[in-house]
Amino acid sequence: MKFNPFLEAIKTYESGKDIDLIAKEYNLKEVIKLASNENPYGTSLKAKEAIIKNAHLAHLYPDDTMIELKQALAKKFNVLNENIIIGSGSDQIIEYAVYAKLDHMKAYLQCGVSFAMYEIYAKQVGAKIYKTQSLVHDLEQLCDLYQKHKNEIKIIFLCLPNNPLGECLDKKDVFEFIGKIDKDCLVVIDGAYNEFASFKDKNKFIDPQELILNFQNVVYLGTFSKLYGLGGMRVGYGIASQKIINTFYKLRAPFNVTNLSLKAAFAALDDKEFVEKTLKNNFSQMKLYEEFARKNEISYIESYTNFITYFFDKKNSTDLSEKLLKKGIIVRNLQSYGLNAIRISIGTEYENSRFFEEFLQIFSL
Ligand SMILES: *Cc1c(COP(=O)(O)O)cnc(C)c1O
Repeated sequence: MKFNPFLEAIKTYESGKDIDLIAKEYNLKEVIKLASNENPYGTSLKAKEAIIKNAHLAHLYPDDTMIELKQALAKKFNVLNENIIIGSGSDQIIEYAVYAKLDHMKAYLQCGVSFAMYEIYAKQVGAKIYKTQSLVHDLEQLCDLYQKHKNEIKIIFLCLPNNPLGECLDKKDVFEFIGKIDKDCLVVIDGAYNEFASFKDKNKFIDPQELILNFQNVVYLGTFSKLYGLGGMRVGYGIASQKIINTFYKLRAPFNVTNLSLKAAFAALDDKEFVEKTLKNNFSQMKLYEEFARKNEISYIESYTNFITYFFDKKNSTDLSEKLLKKGIIVRNLQSYGLNAIRISIGTEYENSRFFEEFLQIFSL
């Protein structure tokens, strides 16, 4: 059977491995997952309560206006309900952006290494991809490449901070950059980890309201999967001008977010204590990963996220991650990004100490 030829060029997204499956496969009592940048402190109590309290509604389709969550987000960000679209993860909004702007005659631009889904969605429509030489975001290179292929490039993805490398641009530079981009080119600001970055450094904070007041051609993406601890519920959102949101709505399937997910997200938004604790512990534990790297002469990029990426020269990252897996520790091997590196999500104090223990043994072999 023949399929859409565009699909032949796609490498399927490699997700973090599942804890239960690994426990069974390697016959392990304990498996620690530091692979998908989930919240190590679990689901916030408020979200858990909301899920249980609303479980009896599972037979009903959700409120498709999603007004409760939309209003809460509108209030939080000081924008209108009409500036918001909610998706099954912010992944879905990336998909809308691609389908709204790209086709096989167009292209998108990103830095050398960034979130894999941009490429996958773009390839689905046969679009061309431009990446800078620089692996991390380099605005000069992005600008040059954009100027060179201006007629083709219809989306620029900026991942701030960047997954899987962890670096982050300053807001002021981002705004200056967007100012140089044609109004017909959509700039996607993927803020999946922006709360982490702005907690660490105020200069990284991107305010969606300020963004859309200044630019008609941007969309800001946020998610409940990381900081808010709801990866399993699949809720994300896009904030943009009404014109962009209305267009994205044409691509949306009805009831794209479940009612329990909407309730959980609404409750999680309100759990300030959980969020504070997550942010504080994340960066105090991050310090241990930095110290560990320096001590063992492993290179890393300063991270503004809830993960850190270790780069190797002599050791092989596939080999290291497979050995870790057998010990019950799941990390993300970055070979598929063409990097001899692993990305480690910052876990709880206990999980991290287990990582250091096992990793050191494997690494010093
Ligand atoms: C996790 C992540 C997302 C979105 O995740 P969802 O679970 O689909 O909301 C988007 N962008 C980046 C860079 C991410 O790391």
